[in-house]
Amino acid sequence: MGLTIDLAALAANWTALARQAPGARPGAVVKADAYGLGAAQVAPALYDAGARDFFVALASEGRALRPHLAADARIFILSGHMQGQELDGLIPVLNSPEQFFRDRTLRPRGDFAIQLDSGMNRLGFEPAEWAAIRSEALSAPSPQGSGPALVMSHLMCADEPDHPANAAQLCAFRQMTDGISAPRSLAATGGILLGPDYHFDLTRPGIGLYGGQPFAVSRPVVRLALDVIQTRSIAAGEAVGYGCTWTAARPSRIATVAAGYADGLLRALSGSGAVLWAGDRAAPMVGRVSMDLITVDVTDLPEVPPALEILNARQGVDDLAALAGTIGYEILTSLGPRYSRHYLRS
Ligand SMILES: *Cc1c(COP(=O)(O)O)cnc(C)c1O
Repeated sequence: MGLTIDLAALAANWTALARQAPGARPGAVVKADAYGLGAAQVAPALYDAGARDFFVALASEGRALRPHLAADARIFILSGHMQGQELDGLIPVLNSPEQFFRDRTLRPRGDFAIQLDSGMNRLGFEPAEWAAIRSEALSAPSPQGSGPALVMSHLMCADEPDHPANAAQLCAFRQMTDGISAPRSLAATGGILLGPDYHFDLTRPGIGLYGGQPFAVSRPVVRLALDVIQTRSIAAGEAVGYGCTWTAARPSRIATVAAGYADGLLRALSGSGAVLWAGDRAAPMVGRVSMDLITVDVTDLPEVPPALEILNARQGVDDLAALAGTIGYEILTSLGPRYSRHYLRS
């Protein structure tokens, strides 16, 4: 019961994504506690598979992860160097002139990376800012002698291969970086699938490692089984749950299951057609999702097992996301701290 995280499937997904970009060093994005699955277990499993370059959003995430990885693993901090941060053993991805000068003043020989804005307008140096600082950045003292460990940018429409923003961002990134000797990185999961023009020296897959789209052939990594607390019989015409949004059309058996929107079963799943599984049999979720509970129509199950699955190979994170009107990323990162987490290692 609880969340089962298949670290062997995760490692297989990492290797499969690495093979899609054979010319590049494959990194791994483990921000937001490895998309909700537990960075302290996920990152070492990826290290064992061969990953040496890890990306998190915040310095606090990097500090928490550092003790779980060997010294030859690099941990990049995507938010860069913000005021008052302790960055020992971490590599800030500097996003602005302000971050660059702060970092170079406080960590004059420290390792650093640079993020350029190639069009997303979210993080990174604007082309003019980069032009002004470029030669200083490329020759700044660092553990590798001089210059950044990585120069990177991020694509905003990589999951839509035909979107013109992809080629436009590629062109902008090339214009800002062609000819430099520092390693370059542009592709997350979607960018890897766009083909070799997008791969450069290092890739940064996230969602594809965890079994999510757009990496269609990824293996499922997560199974979520929920305890049945009690089962009751109700008559036709009786309602179930807040707001009386579902009424039994026939005499029914209702199982009450121990997870709700506080655990990441988004309230938008109410009435969406999501099902729970008892082996290969599906039972529909009925009524509203409440904070700690959901209710399931188990009338057609021959028997009610002690737990029902809501995420498995049949109903994956993207399936559940579609039913809730969101994306697999949000389903994963919403998985709450109340689930017990079990890790499968082979
Ligand atoms: C989250 C993130 C990634 C990983 O993206 P996926 O779509 O999950 O593969 C890569 N690079 C940056 C800068 C990110 O913010």
